[in-house]
Amino acid sequence: MPDVDYLSVRGVSKRFDAGNRAVTAIEDVSFDVPRGAFVSILGPSGCGKSTLFNIIAGLLSPSGGDVLLEGASIVGRAGQVGYMLQKDLLLPWRTIEDNITLGQTLRGVKKRKARANAAALMDRCGLTGFEKKKPHQLSGGMRQRAALMRTLLTGKEVLLLDEPFGALDAITRLQLQMTLIDIWQDMRKTILFVTHDVEEALLLSDEILVLTERPGRLRARLPVTLPRPRTPEMLSSPELMALKAQLMQLLLREVAES
Ligand code: ADP
Ligand code: MG
Repeated sequence: MPDVDYLSVRGVSKRFDAGNRAVTAIEDVSFDVPRGAFVSILGPSGCGKSTLFNIIAGLLSPSGGDVLLEGASIVGRAGQVGYMLQKDLLLPWRTIEDNITLGQTLRGVKKRKARANAAALMDRCGLTGFEKKKPHQLSGGMRQRAALMRTLLTGKEVLLLDEPFGALDAITRLQLQMTLIDIWQDMRKTILFVTHDVEEALLLSDEILVLTERPGRLRARLPVTLPRPRTPEMLSSPELMALKAQLMQLLLREVAES
């Protein structure tokens, strides 16, 4: 039987009390993610996507609700999932190699072993030859690649990726999208992916969750029925176009109603 409620978000809400004005960022959000799935979260800016990730990552307490991983609550427990923030957050004084292996060395893996683990992945992502460089010597795309590698190498089964490709040009973005789904399939990770790019969500995901304007609530769940492996050519396929029209309609209604 598939592990359908591997990760469960149950009735999660978050209210920020900012002085005399309180902001409800998300309200009563519930969904389940099967083990090994790639699920994207799409929603207008400011609807609480990063807040939801901070809660799942255990960095922020919800005002209500619970998050379960294999049946156990992970609320307030940091370090249960891998998390990549939109900003790459590489340590500027460390080499690319030392940045990528940081998660492993913090877990006590010996440097030499950590580097060996990283080498194959670096090769796959076109980072071979850049091991000894510092982050400022790399392009934005390469830094993003390195941050992604580091997240993949944290050893966590669940990865939260918050708009990881948001700042990249179209070609670099497409290359990285393809690399990511390749590696995801090989490593059998469960990925939650925030984006506001409809095509990106369609090309990568098994399912797309659409959130409403703030306070973010779950508006719709759209299974993406395109076959795998996904290819860039699918972006112009009739199936993808039809799903895109459906998604655009949901999102536009969202903006129109606000
Ligand atoms: P998204 O990632 O979807 O763009 P966020 O989760 O970053 O949205 O923010 C959702 C809302 O919550 C925004 O209105 C934001 O200003 C507010 N917010 C986020 N973090 C805080 C905080 N620490 N204190 C007060 N308000 C916050
Ligand atoms: Mg955000």
